[in-house]
Amino acid sequence: ERAEWAKLVDAPSVSKDGKEFEIAANIGTPDDVADAVKQGADGVGLFRSEFLYMDSDHMPSEDEQFEAYKQALVGMKGKPLVVRTMDIGGDKPLDYLPLPKEMNPFLGYRAIRLCLNQPEIFKPQLKALIRASEFGPLSIMFPMIGTLAELRAAKALFNECKAELQKDYPGLGDDIKLGMMIEVPLAAINADNMAKEVDFFSIGTNDLIQYNFAADRGNDKVSYLYQPLNPAFLSLVKHVIDAAHRHGTKAAMCGEMAGDKYALPLLMGMGLDEYSMSATSILRTRSTMKNLDTTECAKLVEEAINNCATDVEVKDLVEAKL
Ligand code: PEP
Ligand code: MG
Repeated sequence: ERAEWAKLVDAPSVSKDGKEFEIAANIGTPDDVADAVKQGADGVGLFRSEFLYMDSDHMPSEDEQFEAYKQALVGMKGKPLVVRTMDIGGDKPLDYLPLPKEMNPFLGYRAIRLCLNQPEIFKPQLKALIRASEFGPLSIMFPMIGTLAELRAAKALFNECKAELQKDYPGLGDDIKLGMMIEVPLAAINADNMAKEVDFFSIGTNDLIQYNFAADRGNDKVSYLYQPLNPAFLSLVKHVIDAAHRHGTKAAMCGEMAGDKYALPLLMGMGLDEYSMSATSILRTRSTMKNLDTTECAKLVEEAINNCATDVEVKDLVEAKL
């Protein structure tokens, strides 16, 4: 099986009926780029930029960040890279950034919430990214966006950084695509309005499930509520993808669900454009994708959402088709 998969390293990610998709890698440091390329990734769909902050004993400077993003883009050799802006605070504290203790860190002062309130921390990251964009196709996405006002505020800071840099370097960063993660339930519900204002969505199912089921993603006692195949959750995912496409916005997914073999036919049936996963899952996914027909997958989605009552029923339905 592995030998068969290895032949797919340079093959396109395409369904049985010839529909093209993208299968991308999730990475944590610039050093992971080489492996992602080796595993045949069409791009990097999620570069978790937190490592820059977590692995440092001081707030990384704009120049230090620039070097890291440049290294990642050069290593991509022309393939697209999506960097998620810092997702720290809450349960991911930093020694050098004192923050008040919180009762509910997952619901607290973190990610884009911190970045919008402390632009002196956020702007160096945005400027480092804009400067690095000279070295390859770069997309930037914002984590934990819940409201349109947050999205607009993040975009305004990005545009402010770009304008400041463009005083000396006209046109710098004009090719950067801007996106947002869909991981807060309200953003998923409001996907039509969100889609009008971004180039792409990336569905973060780890958090989107945590918040929809109100179940801590790290707590074993409630792990039975991690249900990517729950029919109600599937209809929410479908709503997000449909909303994206109504507005010409690309729909990607970078949570664990994107690499789940039972979810794959359903996501293909919904028309999800990009699947971002751990690099080791890429070739297996490309191989399965090749044997799936998107028209049949779309019927499977209808059946799962309309006729199944539980995630177990959906899993059985998909298993019978695979
Ligand atoms: C997610 O929430 O699904 C996601 C991809 O981000 P993280 O796992 O880093 O929170
Ligand atoms: Mg998340």
